[in-house]
Amino acid sequence: MNFTDLNLIDPIAKAIQEQGYTNPTPIQERSIPDIINGRDFLGCAQTGTGKTAAFAIPILQNLSKNKPSNKNIRALILTPTRELAIQIEENIKAYGKFLPLKHLVIFGGVKQGNQEAALKKGVDILVATPGRLLDFIAQGIISLKNLEIFVLDEADRMLDMGFVHDVKRVIKLLPPRRQTLFFSATMPSEIQKLADSILNNPVKVEVTPVSSTAETINQSVYFVERDDKLDLLTHILKNDISDSVLVFARTKHGADKIARKLQSSSISTEAIHGNKSQNARQNALSNFKSGKTRVLVATDIAARGIDIDELKYVVNFELSDVSETYVHRIGRTGRAGAEGNSISFVDGLDLLNLKNTEKLIGMKIPVEKNHPFHTDNLVVQKRDSNNKPSHSGGGRPQSSNSRPQNSNNKKPAGSTSSAGLKKPKNKNFTRKK
Ligand code: AMP
Repeated sequence: MNFTDLNLIDPIAKAIQEQGYTNPTPIQERSIPDIINGRDFLGCAQTGTGKTAAFAIPILQNLSKNKPSNKNIRALILTPTRELAIQIEENIKAYGKFLPLKHLVIFGGVKQGNQEAALKKGVDILVATPGRLLDFIAQGIISLKNLEIFVLDEADRMLDMGFVHDVKRVIKLLPPRRQTLFFSATMPSEIQKLADSILNNPVKVEVTPVSSTAETINQSVYFVERDDKLDLLTHILKNDISDSVLVFARTKHGADKIARKLQSSSISTEAIHGNKSQNARQNALSNFKSGKTRVLVATDIAARGIDIDELKYVVNFELSDVSETYVHRIGRTGRAGAEGNSISFVDGLDLLNLKNTEKLIGMKIPVEKNHPFHTDNLVVQKRDSNNKPSHSGGGRPQSSNSRPQNSNNKKPAGSTSSAGLKKPKNKNFTRKK
């Protein structure tokens, strides 16, 4: 299918052509005609599938049909993070550049003055994070009573980030007659219930099941002791990879620590996370996008939805306890059929998460042993809330197939690992290859 088959109005067709898009992605093929026809839509799709254009293009077309004289907000897109909100608005700006529709993005963490002034001038399409939106509503600056289209983006992430209550408060304020578009990478039961409660006979489209990882992404696992991870990262950045790399860290503190270490090794690096000001985050992101900074270290929340064309490498410095996060993270690379690589550093604390991640994606991730920090002696450990080994119950095997073993380098069962914890005696405790 070609974009010309979608009956888009000329100003949108021209803007899309300027973006260099020729064929709609699978979700766009399905969403654009149905949303233009006024249907509600449930898209099970992760970032990287073209889902932003899947809702932005038909919204622009629908709102162009008529232009009411009042200054009310006509379309609201609710999304969990500032970065995602900014990117959605950038897309709307690009696809709507030949249309007279006004759009605005609002988010917390910055003074509200400029956002408030822009709102007062009148906005057709508002992109918002939940907290700032509710603040403006409480102050009487925003009313949703004339809303025509509501988009809930990244619904599962709203749940993960504890925003579901805020989202439900927003939903209560929506007019009952509206078009609703709902996007989520995964469909846990709470999200399914939420979807059922706000959608009216929606068209349902699932483009990439969350458990499938893009086929173009070359995934690997590096077994490494916790204390060697920083040296391993420095090593691969100096010896194996010459491209830009997005590194995921579990904690803000960890992200800063990684950035400091790489900077001290003369590798241009910046970190983004929730403790950084919005300006610092935006600067770091644009430096990374322009290639000025080679490595960006990000926490999951700060990195959510980061859209960097041609990013070839993602490094998971640790694996998340939420297996779906792995799919979101590696989805930052290998976009639109481009080559992508995902490298995951796994120490004893990550072994359980590795097992769960592999279960979710339905495959064993190949182990890369060709580096100076490879170890076959990891022991399953539990993590405490400070990202440190938990000593209550730590060191005991949690599964029967999570621990890597190397027959050439086998320590006797019951010996002490480098983390000072007892090794399991279970002979079956070998990672299946
Ligand atoms: P998203 O899933 O919305 O995060 O989009 C992922 C990337 O795909 C973004 O860089 C978009 O600009 C790009 N994109 C979206 N639709 C198309 C298309 N039809 N053809 C080529 N690239 C696209």
